[in-house]
Amino acid sequence: MRKPVIAGNWKMYKTIAEAVDFIEKIKPVAAQAGHCEVIVAPPFTALAAAAAAAKGSKVSLAAQNCHWDKEGAHTGDISIGMLRNAGCRHVIVGHSERRHDCGETDEQVNKKVKAALAAGLTPIVCVGETLAERENGETEKVLERQFTGGLAGLTPADFSRIMIAYEPVWAIGTGRTATPEMAAEAHGFLRALARREFGESEADGVRILYGGSVKPDNIGGLMAQEEIDGALVGGASLKVDSFTALLNYPCG
Ligand code: PEP
Repeated sequence: MRKPVIAGNWKMYKTIAEAVDFIEKIKPVAAQAGHCEVIVAPPFTALAAAAAAAKGSKVSLAAQNCHWDKEGAHTGDISIGMLRNAGCRHVIVGHSERRHDCGETDEQVNKKVKAALAAGLTPIVCVGETLAERENGETEKVLERQFTGGLAGLTPADFSRIMIAYEPVWAIGTGRTATPEMAAEAHGFLRALARREFGESEADGVRILYGGSVKPDNIGGLMAQEEIDGALVGGASLKVDSFTALLNYPCG
């Protein structure tokens, strides 16, 4: 049984006070949501305060990015040790906005994944095709390249400690969601890659989240797919009401 995960990616939104207020409000909701794990990813500036607010609750914290070095001359970057120190347990790696805005490569994703694992953080590794790639019939080729590149050199034991997020770029922040069937097909392909690269039980156990315009009114259909183990949510994770509705998605 793979426990579902509902994760909110707050991107470049929320002050420290707003983040703390949000966490205080969703803590009781998360406490009732025994069917899923609850993760939020505030911006770096709010991490420590958000972690303090979440302490002892079911809400756990993710960072939105990291550097692979322990420390060094990397202006503007944050190390995994710093993220741990701020109270993070997870880190989003290879989000398409970082791949496209900052030119993040699969090799860099791979270094970040290894550094996060070495330091005991769970990487949430994002993969996904652009609209042009989908229309050219290249979805599987792109997913395979990002999967094998981003996870190169991991052992099956390493792999069993990560999460994957399938986020078609054309669905992120556009209001255009993949149909549950399209998402499930991509998840099935990723799980088959996991089986080929890491083994049967590792493939069966890995949580693959879907991301891309997930909203309270479409999460039920997505989560009804056996292949979909959770959601990584941007826009709809920013408001207490909609995040609450996402945590209370209709199940079973
Ligand atoms: C995301 O940021 O990972 C995301 C999926 O955003 P949205 O839900 O707004 O499409």
